[in-house]
Amino acid sequence: MKCSACGKYTLKGTCGVCGKSTVMALPPRYSPIDRFQKYRLKERL
Ligand SMILES: [Zn+2]
Repeated sequence: MKCSACGKYTLKGTCGVCGKSTVMALPPRYSPIDRFQKYRLKERL
């Protein structure tokens, strides 16, 4: 699950940061840019 407001990933139905309801972590459209950023983030970790 992912918060649509702040983008925080969580397993709960509501965001633990802002308290908004979360959505399925599968975006309707997968942005190549977003994917690239996540890939670089993993490399750094
Ligand atoms: Zn949030």
